[in-house]
Amino acid sequence: MILTVTLNPSVDISYHLPSLSVDTVNRVADASKTPGGKGLNVARVLNDLGESVMVTGYLGGELGDFIQHHLPTDIQKRFFKISGETRNCIAILHDGQQTEILEQGPLVDPDEADGFANHFKYILEGVDVVTMSGSLPAGMPENYYGRLIRLANLFGRKTVLDCSGSALEAVLKGDDKPTVIKPNRDELAQLLGREVSKDTEELKEVLNQPLFDGIEWIIVSLGADGAFAKHGETFYKVDIPKIEVVNPVGSGDSTVAGIASGLANEETDDVLLKKANVLGMLNAQEKTTGHVNMANYDGLYQALNVREV
Ligand code: ADP
Repeated sequence: MILTVTLNPSVDISYHLPSLSVDTVNRVADASKTPGGKGLNVARVLNDLGESVMVTGYLGGELGDFIQHHLPTDIQKRFFKISGETRNCIAILHDGQQTEILEQGPLVDPDEADGFANHFKYILEGVDVVTMSGSLPAGMPENYYGRLIRLANLFGRKTVLDCSGSALEAVLKGDDKPTVIKPNRDELAQLLGREVSKDTEELKEVLNQPLFDGIEWIIVSLGADGAFAKHGETFYKVDIPKIEVVNPVGSGDSTVAGIASGLANEETDDVLLKKANVLGMLNAQEKTTGHVNMANYDGLYQALNVREV
């Protein structure tokens, strides 16, 4: 069983408009509303892959109920109720562009943060791997993921952390380390305060920095260039073929799903890295974020190459 944590989920609204007019009324015939949030994308892809999956995080108000009711039935829902209202995130697709309006989301008070940690400890019993994705809601201490990782480590559960900025920095500087982190190049650059190229020697030098000590796996996703990884003292480059891309949003979340599945099934490094990349690519080939068409899995899998560097 894989548990995915989404602390600040949303109801994602997409409006499709031929063009957007400001300071007047825009009427929309083509609208969709779906449960959103990085960890929920991870869960949907794991469900497409046929893994047993459970989701948790904070939910509040009627939008919280909407999320609860609109996730696939096969996914076990173990959310934690809070007094604040779950947020909406709006994407307006117009004129070949995408304009987004993202609510900050509810404030989580210290009692709710403690309550969730207890709830998390309780549900950890039945899971093998935990993924934690996305930003922390307002009001939460910066190292809250560190607190959850400490609990998972106490229970001997593997963890995959996919977050950025101060939440990631706090974990890297803290005592409780996840099994895997999955930064992209922008997130690495933000962390280090400098540009990071795709060059193998530079990536090796970056991942050898003491900041990453104690983390078993670092998987740097490189978009159309595949991925670069460090497992223990071994470095890998994953080469991928060129594909036709429809919508790459959520590819990183799909990669996290592949990593979690690889860990849960105790796959070899080669298989784990291939699974992670194939799922990222399959997501990029679909219109819907956080969805993969498994009919194309085997064909792509054969076309990937993992080499030690
Ligand atoms: P994130 O969404 O976190 O920025 P990436 O964009 O690096 O993550 O995507 C994750 C993975 O998805 C990549 O490692 C790659 O395997 C696949 N992928 C993403 N974008 C593309 C693309 N344009 N072409 C081929 N594969 C892609």
